[in-house]
Parts: sequence; structure tokens; C-alpha cells
Amino acid sequence: MMLSLRLLLLVLLTPLGLVALEEPAQAIPESLRTHAERSDWSELTPHDEVLRFYRELTRLAPEARMSRIGSSREGRPLHLVTLSRPAVSEPWEAQASGRPILFIAAQVHGDEQARKEGLMLFARELAFGDLQSLLDELVVLIVPQINPDGGEAGSWGTRANRAGYNVNWDYIRLVNPEARAVVQGVLNPWRPHVILDAHELTGFRWYDFYALHPSNLNVGAEVRSLAAGPATRAVEEAIKEAGYTYFPYHLQPSDPTTIPEEGILGAGYAARTLRTYGGVRGAVTLLFESRRDDDARVDLEPRTRWQRLAMTGLAEWIAANGQEILDSVLSRVRPVGYLIEPHLPIHRLRSLPAVSWERYGSDP
Ligand SMILES: [Zn+2]
Repeated sequence: MMLSLRLLLLVLLTPLGLVALEEPAQAIPESLRTHAERSDWSELTPHDEVLRFYRELTRLAPEARMSRIGSSREGRPLHLVTLSRPAVSEPWEAQASGRPILFIAAQVHGDEQARKEGLMLFARELAFGDLQSLLDELVVLIVPQINPDGGEAGSWGTRANRAGYNVNWDYIRLVNPEARAVVQGVLNPWRPHVILDAHELTGFRWYDFYALHPSNLNVGAEVRSLAAGPATRAVEEAIKEAGYTYFPYHLQPSDPTTIPEEGILGAGYAARTLRTYGGVRGAVTLLFESRRDDDARVDLEPRTRWQRLAMTGLAEWIAANGQEILDSVLSRVRPVGYLIEPHLPIHRLRSLPAVSWERYGSDP
């Protein structure tokens, strides 16, 4: 009796905030273990299992929503998963929240498998693990696999989609249904403030992880310097603090220890790839690359960990610097360009006068 009375008093007198702080993160449901985890990292998670994972996440987590944004060339469904607290289903809800919107694009190259594996673990941590508080600070958009056809082809996937296109070079031409789904289903309606294009690298590589900002000079100075400066540093620190190695992304045409005269190259400037396309559209955009063996099944567990660590570092930086990011992205708004400006806040759209298409041309 005395004990239960003391317990009752304790419950009544303990400030609610303190209880919330001391509560451990929710246990991660067994059904949200990935196929790769359950195979002890000996098998890649196949497309059907990726779908099962996100359906289950959406069923269990009140913060998660899932919608279909298109189909691959072979008819596999392409999905958008949103994570936020409170949950968002529509773009206007995300814009009206006043929080930065982070879009993570995975597996545009089908044979770069650790991105989609790391993204599942990151999404699970947001919904049930140590990263839950981030969902109060930002809206997370995920396309789990942009190129699932390439992901399923061969023993460990192919770079191109099944029509032979490099989908990552298609963000301007939009020849492929996969690129159209990302632009029309995510970038146009949701207008993310930060974009992460996650990849993997093959060939001779010294470092575990690499990142790069948009290098095209049409990218606004404000967002380019945020991407090249603090956003990149957050990723570098997350990788190094966990004991792994980091270097800025670059191209190596050959093994520089045996053919040094070929040297190393910076990455391209073309706006057709998401790293630069996202920047040209006004978003703080980063490329991730993790080191990969020629066989994409080798070292799947550490590669997945690098991707998850880097995503976490970027998301924590966004959560801690939301207003600065929003201000930088919104500073790109120009008076004449507002009709196509991807980051115009909703309340300004509402206050605009009626549009005269005669003045701006008949084809919007
Ligand atoms: Zn790639």
C-alpha cells in the first residue's frame, strides 16, 4: 500500500517533460529488420522486400506516409515516403509547417545497393530509434529506389535502367519514366530545400566515403556555399567520428599508384545530374558516394553504415540550422521569376495577383 502510494505521488509530481526526456527510444519492431540484416548481410534486399519494409513502416509509424509517384520502365512501382511529426501527406502541409524539407534519392544507379540499404535503416531510426526528435524539426521525403529495374538486374544490379539509360543524366531531358517520377512527383510539387543524391563508387579508392556540392556556377551562391561548407563538414565529421575515412568526391580514371600520369579529375558541371540539377533549382544539394567493391555484395554492412551515418550527420545539421537554410533557399526568390520559383512560400503564392498568361506567354 505504502509503495503504491509513493508510486502514485512520484507519477503525479514528476514533471511531464522530464519523463519524456528519460523515456528510452521506442523498441524497433522485428518486422522492420531488412532482408540484408536478416541474411546477416550476405544478401541484398530485393525490390519486393524494400516495398514490404516501407509498407510496414507506414503501417506502424504514425509519422510515415507512402504514395505512388510512378512506375519504372518494367512496371515496378515508384514510391514517395514522407516522414514528419505531425505526418504530412500533401506538399502544402510540408510548406506550411515552416520547416526545411529534405529529399533523399536512392539507387538511381541500380548496382549501387548500399544507398537503399542505408536509407531503410535511417528511416527506421527516424520512426522508432534515436533520431525521432529530428521529425519535429524537418520534413523528410524518401524515394527508396529510383531505378528498381536496374537494381533487380543481374547478380547485383546494373547502373543503367532496362532501356540502357543512365537515369542520373536524365533530369533535364526526362526521357525515362524514373526521372519523370522524381521531377514531377517530388521536386515540382514538394520543392525540397535540401536534396541528397546518394551513390556508390567502384574502382580503385582509398577512402570510405565522399561527398560533393553542386559545381555549376548557375547554382545560387548562398545555397552553394551552404552545401560546400557546413553541410559537407557535417557529413565529413559524422563519418570521421565513427572512425572511417572521408575525402571530397573526385574522379580517378585509373589507379594513381600505377598510372599516375592520368591524375585525378574534379566532377562534372552538367546540370543534368541531380547533384547540380537540384542546386540549379535552388536547393542545398549534396552528392554522397561510398566506396564499393566491383562485386556490390561485398562489405554490404559497413557500406550501409557509412550511408546511414552520413544521412544522419546531414539531417542533424539541417535540424540545427533550419532557419538559415530556409532563408538561404528563399533568398533565391526573384520578383519576375515567381511563377516558376520552386521555393516560394505558400503564403506569398496566395497573395500574388491573378496571372496574365498573355504577358508571360501562353505556355506556362
Ligand atoms: Zn552512382
